[in-house]
Amino acid sequence: MNIHEYQAKALLKSYGAPVAEGVAILKVEEAEAAARKLPGPLYVVKSQIHAGGRGKGKFKELGPDAKGGVRLAKSIDEVVAHAKEMLGNTLVTAQTGEAGKQVNRLYIEDGADIARELYCSLLVDRSVGRVAFVVSTEGGMDIEAVAHDTPEKIHTIAIDPEAGVTAADVATISRALELSGAAAEDAKSLFPALYKAFVEKDMALLEINPLIVMENGHLRVLDAKVSFDGNALFRHDDIKALRDETEEDAKEIEASKWDLAYVALDGNIGCMVNGAGLAMATMDIIKLYGKEPANFCDVGGGAGKEKVAAAFKIITADPKVEGILVNIFGGIMRCDVIAEGVVAAVQEVGLKVPLVVRLEGTNVELGKKILNESGLAITAADDLDDAAKKIVAAIKA
Ligand code: GDP
Ligand code: MG
Repeated sequence: MNIHEYQAKALLKSYGAPVAEGVAILKVEEAEAAARKLPGPLYVVKSQIHAGGRGKGKFKELGPDAKGGVRLAKSIDEVVAHAKEMLGNTLVTAQTGEAGKQVNRLYIEDGADIARELYCSLLVDRSVGRVAFVVSTEGGMDIEAVAHDTPEKIHTIAIDPEAGVTAADVATISRALELSGAAAEDAKSLFPALYKAFVEKDMALLEINPLIVMENGHLRVLDAKVSFDGNALFRHDDIKALRDETEEDAKEIEASKWDLAYVALDGNIGCMVNGAGLAMATMDIIKLYGKEPANFCDVGGGAGKEKVAAAFKIITADPKVEGILVNIFGGIMRCDVIAEGVVAAVQEVGLKVPLVVRLEGTNVELGKKILNESGLAITAADDLDDAAKKIVAAIKA
C-alpha cells in the first residue's frame, strides 16, 4: 500500500525527521490561506499523486512548455496561479504511464534553499535478510540511471536487527553521503529515526529523493515515498486510514475486500488459480507457449462460491483480457465450488472471451458436471499443458 508524500512526511515528522512546514489542499480556493500559514518567501506547490518524477512530469492539458508537477513560487499570488493550473489536470510522469494521473490534491510547502541533493532509501535487502540503507550523493535525479551508469556511487549499508542503527552505521552512511558539520550532527538522529519508522510501521520501502543539505548546513527530507507491506496492515489501523482509494486500481481494491491475491500484469490471458506455486507454474507455461498473462487471481484455499465469483469478475473486468484460464488443483478447495462460482459470475457479467478450465482434485467429477450442464461455452482441459495450449490457441484464433 502506498501513501502520498504529505502523509509520508507527517509520519516521518512524528519520528523526529526534519521536514518542511506544509499544508495539503483539495481546492484552488484553499491555496491562499494555505500559503499564508507558511513563512515564505519561497513556496513549493507539489502535486500529490502516487507516482514519482513529478518535477519533470508534464500536464496533458497544458502543453509541452508549461511547468511540471512540482513548482517553486516566490509569492502567494504565484502559489494561487500554480494551484489553478495544476488542480484537476492530468500529470504524466515517467512512472504514471501514458494515461497519467489526475491531480486532485496539492501540497503547499515552505521552500528550502538547497546546497546539495542526496539520495537515501531503506528497503528489505533479501540477499542478507536485513533492512538496509541505500544512499548516494547523486540525489534528486533518476536513481535508476545512477545505478546503471555509475554503480560505484550507490552504497548499501545493511543494519543488524539486534543492534539497530549504531553510531558506526551512522558514520558509514554519513561518510558515503559526504556529510559534515550540522548535517553530520543531524544525521545522528535522522538515520536511527528513519530505521525506527521503517521497522515499527512495517514499511516495504522508504525513499527520500532528495534528502537535502540546505544552505544553512542542515538536513531536510525534501521528498518522501513510502510503501507498506500489505500483509502487515492488519496491525496498523493508523496506516490503513491513510489509504487513498482514488489512487488505486479498482480491481485491486475489490480484490483486497475479498482477501484475494490479485496481481495485474501486461499480457492478455487472465488466470484464476489457487496457491502461489500453481500461479507461478501457470504463468510460466503460458509464456512457454508464446503468450503473456494479463493478471492472476489466487483464490486461495477455503474460498466459497461468492469469493470465486468475485475473483472471476475481477479477472474479466480487465479490458486487456482476451482469454481466461482457470487452473485449479482442488485440495482444501473443492472443484464443485470453483465451478459454481465461475457459473454464477458468468451468468451475472457474461463471457465475452474464450474460457479454458482445468480442474483436478477434490470433487473434480462434480465440478466438471456443473460446468458441462451450465450450457456455457467452456473448453475443458485435461492437464496444465493441455490447458495452456488451448487458451493460447483460442486467443490466436
Ligand atoms: P519528484 O519529481 O516527484 O521526485 O518530486 P520532488 O519532491 O523530488 O521534487 C522535484 C525537484 O524539485 C527536487 O529534486 C528539487 O530540485 C525541486 N524542489 C522541491 N522542493 C524544493 C524546495 O523546497 N526548494 C527548491 N529550491 N527546490 C525544490
Ligand atoms: Mg523526488
